[in-house]
Amino acid sequence: MAKTIFITGASTGIGKITAKLFQSKGWNVIATLRDPSKETELTQLANVTVLPLDVKNTTQIQSIVDKVTSSVNIDVVVNNAGFGIVGPFEGTPENEIERIVNTNILGVMRVTKAFLPHFRSQKNGVLITVSSEGGLITYPFFALYHATKWAIEGWTESMVYELKPLGIQIKTVLPGPTKTEFGNSIFQSSHSAYENTFDKFRSSFLSEKARSTFQSADVVANSIYEAATDGKYQIR
Ligand code: NDP
Repeated sequence: MAKTIFITGASTGIGKITAKLFQSKGWNVIATLRDPSKETELTQLANVTVLPLDVKNTTQIQSIVDKVTSSVNIDVVVNNAGFGIVGPFEGTPENEIERIVNTNILGVMRVTKAFLPHFRSQKNGVLITVSSEGGLITYPFFALYHATKWAIEGWTESMVYELKPLGIQIKTVLPGPTKTEFGNSIFQSSHSAYENTFDKFRSSFLSEKARSTFQSADVVANSIYEAATDGKYQIR
């Protein structure tokens, strides 16, 4: 019987390519997006269901998870939704700090928590979060992004031991720079005291030349597929 994957943030980039990869391998795909009215490609594919989901919305998450798990067994959940902030920490507005924590950390935790009863009753399931190499290493001006991905790494590592006796795998994939819409969705903060150093960093790290070296999202989708199917109870 075909397996089923549930993925967040499937409107673009890694999420969309991953949804298409699993579909091409014969899986049923539940692709969630903030605004499904924008989606024209995934909805055309066989065995793909597109549903609305903002990972900041606990009520919406619970209602979608209740809806899907009442009719189908979910084998794999991919927590992919996320975004970045770059710039001086001192210049980052409070609401942006809250938004990145709310999305990249709490969003992952909310979706995971909502699926745990389902996975416990099945006595299996795989939870994968798209973390980042920025969850292991750091660059200046990405402090908030790193904080969210390092949080996910620590949380996942502990959860591995908690969930293994229940037959549930939880892991992360840690992509390096990848060609997606990520650069366009990054929030750029500013602060006059850091102008010189941030400008230098920005012109090297975020330049077109640097971007031309980024890997394709297919590479990450393949890593996610491997993590979903390798049967290993280890974090990464
Ligand atoms: P994209 O910007 O192309 O995709 C991000 C996805 O997340 C979009 O579908 C976006 O939806 C969605 N999203 C953002 N906020 C929310 C939310 N509150 N609720 C639901 N969905 C949301 O970038 P990527 O594909 O690159 O990013 C995917 C993941 O990969 C992220 O977690 C990112 O941190 C990680 N990553 C990316 C790297 C890169 O270099 N690109 C490197 C390492 C990790 P919408 O269209 O509505 O904005």
